[in-house]
Amino acid sequence: MQAEIIAIGSELLTPFRQDTNSLYLTEHLNQLGVDVIFKTIVGDSRERLTNVASTALARADVIIFIGGLGPTEDDLTREAVADALGLPLKRDPELVAALERRFAERGYKLTPNNLQQADVIAGATVLPNPNGSAVGLWVGGKYEGREKIILLLPGPPAELKAMFEQQCLERLRSKLPRKAIATRVLKITGLGESQCDARVAPIYKTFIDVDTTILAGAGEIQLHMKSQKATTAEAQQRVDQLVELIEEELGDLVFSDNGDSLEQIVGYYLQMRGITLAAAESCTGGLLAERLTSLSGSSRYFVGGAVVYSNHLKTDFADVPAHMLEKHGAVSKEVAAALAEGIRYRCEATLGIGITGVAGPTGGSPEKPVGLVYHALASEQGTEVIERKFPGDRKRVRWFATQQALDMVRRKLM
Ligand code: ATP
Ligand code: MG
Repeated sequence: MQAEIIAIGSELLTPFRQDTNSLYLTEHLNQLGVDVIFKTIVGDSRERLTNVASTALARADVIIFIGGLGPTEDDLTREAVADALGLPLKRDPELVAALERRFAERGYKLTPNNLQQADVIAGATVLPNPNGSAVGLWVGGKYEGREKIILLLPGPPAELKAMFEQQCLERLRSKLPRKAIATRVLKITGLGESQCDARVAPIYKTFIDVDTTILAGAGEIQLHMKSQKATTAEAQQRVDQLVELIEEELGDLVFSDNGDSLEQIVGYYLQMRGITLAAAESCTGGLLAERLTSLSGSSRYFVGGAVVYSNHLKTDFADVPAHMLEKHGAVSKEVAAALAEGIRYRCEATLGIGITGVAGPTGGSPEKPVGLVYHALASEQGTEVIERKFPGDRKRVRWFATQQALDMVRRKLM
C-alpha cells in the first residue's frame, strides 16, 4: 500500500510555516504498513491543486489532503478534489443546520461563504470536527479500476490529530491488508556518520528483510530499523537480532536502544545511583542545564550550577583562581577542570561538570580555534578533562559540547 500526502496552503510555501502535519501522518501510516511515496505542498490555487490531486490519484492508494477546508475564498480543497475525481459537491442540509447553530451560539452572522463548509463530495462520509468548524471527508471507492481511500483533513494540527486518531485510524486499519511491523531505534554517540556506517553496514546489509536508515545529527547518530512480517513476533525477532549484532559491534558507543535521549539516560543513571550533578557552563551558556532540567523529576539529581561567561564569575561562582585564568586563558583544560571542581564543591554535588570553549564564529585564534571546547568531570576520584574540536556553526558547537559533557557522565556511571 502506498500513500501520498498533500499539504495545502500558500503559507506552507513561505519560510514562516512548516508542514508538520505530514510528519505526524507519515508516522501513523508507516505503523500501519503504508509507505508514503510522495509528499506535495501546494499553494491555494484551484488549478494547481486539481492537477496535484489528479496526479496523486494516478499513483497512490491512500491520498490525504491537509487543509484548505475553511470558509474563505482560498479554501479550495473540496472543489479541487471533487474536480479531480469527477464527482459533484452537494450541500449537506445537516451540516448547514450545524453551522447555523454554531454561529447562533456564538452570536455571529452566517455569511454565504461559510456555507461552503457544508459542501460534501458525493458519496463521501463526513468526519465531524469537535475542535473546529471545518469537517473532514472520507471518500472511498474505485478510481480507474483501483480501490482508493481519499481523506480531506483540516489544517490546524490539533484538529487534524484528533480527527485522524478518533475517526480515521481504526477505519484505515480495517481496510488495509494485515501486516505486522516491528521497529527499533539505536542511538549512538562518539562516532561520525561514515565511521558508524562503515562498521554497521556489513551487518545490516545481511538483513535484507529489515529496512535500516541512518540519521546523523550533531553529536548523535540514530539507526532506525523496521521489519514487516506475517506476525509481530517474527518481525520483532528480526529487528532484535539485528540490534543485538550492532550493539555487539559498537559496544558502549550505543547509548540508547529504546528511543531515550542522552539526558534521559544520564538522568536514569544518576537517579539509580542516588547521586547528584552540578555544572559550571561558559560557552554553552546554560544549554546543558536546560537539557537536564527539561525532564520532569530532574531535581532529584541535578542540583543546578552557574553560567560563568565572564572571567570574574568563573572566579566568584566556581573558585577558578584568577592567576590560572591569566596564565592559561579561559579556554583551557586547567580552567575546565577548575570549573568542574569548583562547582562541585560550591553546590555540594557528587559530580561537577565544567565546560569552556570557543563557540564562534568570532573569538578564535590559531592556538584556540573556533570549535575548541574543554569538558571536565570532577568526582571524588579526581577530574577528567576531554578536549574536542567541533565542526559547524555556533549552535552546533554548543550542542556538541553538551552532548560530550553528558556522555562523560554516562560513561562514568556505566
Ligand atoms: P480552518 O480554516 O477552519 O482553520 P483549514 O482546513 O482551512 O481549517 P488551513 O486554513 O489550511 O486549514 O490551515 C489552518 C492553520 O493550520 C494555519 O495556521 C496553517 O498554518 C496550519 N496548517 C495548515 N496545514 C498545515 C500543515 N500541513 N502542517 C502544519 N500546520 C498546518
Ligand atoms: Mg489555508
